[in-house]
Amino acid sequence: AKATGKNAVRFFDPDMEQQISQRLRLESELRRALARDEFELYYQPQFHASGALFGYEALIRWQHPVRGYLGPSEFIEVAEENNLIVKMGEWALRRACEQASKWMRTYPREVIRVSVNISPRQFHSPNFVQSVAMALNNSGLSPWLLKLELTENLMLDHIEQIIQKMARLSDLGVILSLDDFGTGFSSLYHLKTLPITEIKIDRSFVRDLNSDPSDLEIVRSIIDLSHNLHKSVIAEGVETREQYQLLQAMGCDAYQGYYLGRPACADSLKIDRVQDISS
Ligand code: C2E
Ligand code: CA
Ligand code: CA
Ligand code: CA
Repeated sequence: AKATGKNAVRFFDPDMEQQISQRLRLESELRRALARDEFELYYQPQFHASGALFGYEALIRWQHPVRGYLGPSEFIEVAEENNLIVKMGEWALRRACEQASKWMRTYPREVIRVSVNISPRQFHSPNFVQSVAMALNNSGLSPWLLKLELTENLMLDHIEQIIQKMARLSDLGVILSLDDFGTGFSSLYHLKTLPITEIKIDRSFVRDLNSDPSDLEIVRSIIDLSHNLHKSVIAEGVETREQYQLLQAMGCDAYQGYYLGRPACADSLKIDRVQDISS
């Protein structure tokens, strides 16, 4: 266009410049937040098909001094771009183990697992297995009560290294779950080979279960495939009774979603319900 003279050539357009400075600000705020202990874990219940409580997924929240309560979508991506996610993830792991250890001691006759999200960068960090071992040791939590949710994107490369690391985690006794299944690129070979006990069906397949026949078939296939490989299946994002019933009919093993329970802070969980449901 005529208006594009040489003065109009810019290396940064103002929008981009603003985005970059916003990111930098968020980054330094995140650093401070870690130092000041502004993060908190919420817990969302997971249930067996029988209706018994299975455990809780730990979900991070940020109590921002100015902007109020923030969910992970507001900051995880920026944290992922640098090593902040490793520190943040280690904090979450420690805190979740402490919490689950408290449940273990308070309700010795119940099995209440805690499920922790592990970002690919955290998984790949050199001290990851050691940090899991330390979180278990320091909290006194039994390893089989800890579940790690790993995403498929993890599997993109260095598969030998990944297999080795998973084997070491598995040797520790912790449970491995493959999160957001169906949205990434894991091959059937990985499913067969890796020491993963649980497949987590992504919310995007559950959402339109009662209106989209192909989603129904995809979910059915995931459940059958997982069972054939001796893995259990949990569905996330179950919001309605219809979704729950369709999943039950297809033999899904476990459930999580607003229909069954929303994420809440540890103090407000009604653990006493465990006894009623499981007996
Ligand atoms: P995710 O692992 O797929 O976790 C499930 C997300 O779905 C959570 O969002 C949860 O609150 C939400 N959810 C649960 N049930 C329902 C439902 O019935 N309907 C709908 N629409 N949503 C539901 P949240 O807490 O905002 O977390 C978003 C993502 O942030 C998580 O997705 C996870 O990938 C990541 N994340 C959360 N905490 C951590 C953490 O401590 N470390 C790492 N690395 N990632 C985390
Ligand atoms: Ca998850
Ligand atoms: Ca998901
Ligand atoms: Ca996820």
